[in-house]
Amino acid sequence: AHDAVLLRKSYKGNVTGQDLPLPIGSFEDLITRFQFDKRLLSNLIESHFTEPTPIQCEAIPLALEGRDVLACAPTGSGKTVAFILPLLQQIISLGDKEGLKGLIISPTKELANQIFVECSKLSHKIYLARKRPLNIALLSKSLSAKLRNKVISDKKYDLIISTPLRLIDVVKNEALDLSDVKHLIFDEADKLFDSTFVEQADSILASCQDSQLRKSMFSATVPSSLEEVVNSIMLDPVRIIIGHKEA
Ligand code: ADP
Ligand code: MG
Repeated sequence: AHDAVLLRKSYKGNVTGQDLPLPIGSFEDLITRFQFDKRLLSNLIESHFTEPTPIQCEAIPLALEGRDVLACAPTGSGKTVAFILPLLQQIISLGDKEGLKGLIISPTKELANQIFVECSKLSHKIYLARKRPLNIALLSKSLSAKLRNKVISDKKYDLIISTPLRLIDVVKNEALDLSDVKHLIFDEADKLFDSTFVEQADSILASCQDSQLRKSMFSATVPSSLEEVVNSIMLDPVRIIIGHKEA
């Protein structure tokens, strides 16, 4: 526990909430503390990620314990892996059950694509059952059309990454069912809950009906309006601030 305090001090981390787990000091801690999937860890190493960044040290154990998280850390500090890694682990733990379990929302197509690429690398060669890979999709225009035309079943994907409007469009057309989604992640949450996007973000929240839904937000800045959203939608949230709240 003392080491954890020192670790937190070393990167000026401020973590607040009830019953907080300790940060991880290395990715190997994930194997010893949580029965973390060894294939995920070896994919990490293949991506040359050897040591967790501060936001990863703090956010990964919280997510694995099923907590709602507001994570604020500077641009370039490794937030993507901080939310993808525990999400993939949790999807793997749910077994080969069909249907959409995780949803990552990004304000732009470019960012959604980067997240998709990172997810694909980290889930490489991981099978949920015999010959059944983890199915991850970027909700592109063509995939939306295929879902609407039922060329592809909406039960096929375990994880979808999308911009708000594209997602809302398929949901409205009843081409994608969000009712079983267990993990909802908002990347660049400051943008997703600003005045231009907030109605879309609320509509997505309203479509995710699972009572066990875990929500998290990652951002480089936390405007007070985002704090208000956190207080209204999250259950017993944990706030992680690395560096300053305003970029
Ligand atoms: P952010 O979303 O916080 O702006 P990114 O997730 O885009 O940052 O990560 C920035 C860069 O750091 C990326 O190139 C990513 O591959 C790299 N990175 C992430 N985690 C690690 C790590 N643990 N070790 C080394 N590089 C990392
Ligand atoms: Mg980012």
